[in-house]
Amino acid sequence: MDTFSTIASLRGYLGAEKTRGRSIAFVPTMGGLHEGHRSCIDIARGLGDLLVVSIFLNPTQFGPGEDLNSYPATLEQDIEICRQCGCDVVFTPVADEMYATEQNTWVDVGRLTEPLCGRTRGGHFRGVATVVAKLFNIVGPDVAVFGQKDAQQALVIKAMTEQLNMPVEIRLSPIVREADGLACSSRNRYLSADERRRAAGVRSALGAGLEVLRAGGRDPRSVCAAVERHLTNAGITGGEYVELLEAKELTPINTVDGRVILAVAARVGTTRLIDNLVLEVGSDVEEVLLF
Ligand code: AMP
Repeated sequence: MDTFSTIASLRGYLGAEKTRGRSIAFVPTMGGLHEGHRSCIDIARGLGDLLVVSIFLNPTQFGPGEDLNSYPATLEQDIEICRQCGCDVVFTPVADEMYATEQNTWVDVGRLTEPLCGRTRGGHFRGVATVVAKLFNIVGPDVAVFGQKDAQQALVIKAMTEQLNMPVEIRLSPIVREADGLACSSRNRYLSADERRRAAGVRSALGAGLEVLRAGGRDPRSVCAAVERHLTNAGITGGEYVELLEAKELTPINTVDGRVILAVAARVGTTRLIDNLVLEVGSDVEEVLLF
């Protein structure tokens, strides 16, 4: 496995590989690697000749007062995980390499970035779309894999590649969870033992919403109310949003039908957790990938 920390050295290496006709599958990450990242990497392995992972804690997607400075920094361990996962190339730039000059050019994907996390994390998706566009321009992947855990992010990135005619196919990994249902996240490391126990309530609250749908409920308000009740009962009072939206454009719906996303953001202690279920709702209710 080769590790590069400068754009020029990575480009030099990948350029030669591409000239040999080798295709590139890419997984961008912010480090603090866990089973969710492994799943993205495993999926990417089968999609290209060269498997490239980036580890870059992107400052422009964090707002003031967010957890940029406390975010898990485990670079040596992350590189070792990439090695175990059979990665060919790991790209580990520092912020001054990725933002060598003042960044005045931004990718703003618009309406898709407004609901859900966009409401409280102003500028977050602009930072995400911009850094992913930069990484795509640096790596030149044929395909890139993102996790459904960050469903809105995946939709934003897919829209960006389509609307800016980027020749990159976007694929998804399903959400990887701990044994008690908590979605794997780098931020789970912030949780105390008591918070960690309560955090499983985020997934089981989504399950309470799923039960309403499986029992034939089709009113989004009653589904969200069941999720909110469950969060409260699980001792999670820091709910930020519980929403049930159409899953392509993230628009509100009056009746649940077709592909929808039931999404939650909540704080457990000071740790902000997000989770979702993407469902195909007809006569049955089935968990599916977003796209
Ligand atoms: P991050 O390092 O948090 O930016 O995540 C890098 C990639 O891993 C993103 O595409 C995430 O959606 C994905 N990812 C994070 N957690 C999970 C998870 N629990 N299951 C599947 N994918 C995940």
